Amino acid sequence: MFLKKRTTAIILLILITCPELFCQDTGLFDRWNKTDLLIMDVKIPKDNAIDSIDNYVTLANKYFKKTGLKTTTREQWVFPMRGWTSVSYRSAGNDYGDIYFDYFQGGESHNHPAHDIFILDKDSNGVEDSTGKKVEALSMVNGIVFTVLSDWKTGDFGRGGNYIKIYDPESEAMFYYSHLDSIFVKVGQVVKAGDPVAYVGRTGRKAIGGRTHLHIAYYPIYNGYPEPENFIDDLYRAEKKAKK
Ligand SMILES: [Zn+2]
Repeated sequence: MFLKKRTTAIILLILITCPELFCQDTGLFDRWNKTDLLIMDVKIPKDNAIDSIDNYVTLANKYFKKTGLKTTTREQWVFPMRGWTSVSYRSAGNDYGDIYFDYFQGGESHNHPAHDIFILDKDSNGVEDSTGKKVEALSMVNGIVFTVLSDWKTGDFGRGGNYIKIYDPESEAMFYYSHLDSIFVKVGQVVKAGDPVAYVGRTGRKAIGGRTHLHIAYYPIYNGYPEPENFIDDLYRAEKKAKK
């Protein structure tokens, strides 16, 4: 009798905590996270990685549809920071370069297929000078977090420090946020455009000695191959909207 009760309780618990539609799919993002970490460490054959990403994209699109959320059009992209009074871009927004970049070179890839957005933090203590508070990084789109690396410590080799990657089902692309201070989201978490995902920081081998900034990249995925795209005009447009 006792055993029966316990079994029923366990089954009920599984049903409650793991609705059949989502249960298997949550594992999808854990798998994607693992694959991405292997890619960053260059520990997975490139062809396998491409096939896997291609598959994750298809499954992630299906998963997102089930959430009932709308996707975010490019015009609706939200500026990826909140709580700043002024921002500046490294090299006046001309820091983007992708000629030698290949996603499958992993964490030590060449070039800078991204933008660095600095906050007002002259003494580099991690808080915005005029507010005395940390600046939040925001999701630019409605999407799903598929990678979180949050245990970077001073002295660690990793160049990106603490970082996250968010999948955008509208453009089938990844947004990459690095040098983060603390991270608020988990792998598999559905986020909305404008949701806080982390604090902007200086984590990372080189960034730790530099100025507080967000390194943000946009990689549309073509048949499993993430290819960076320069999106400075989108950042400018979103910044303008955020100022209003
Ligand atoms: Zn950067």
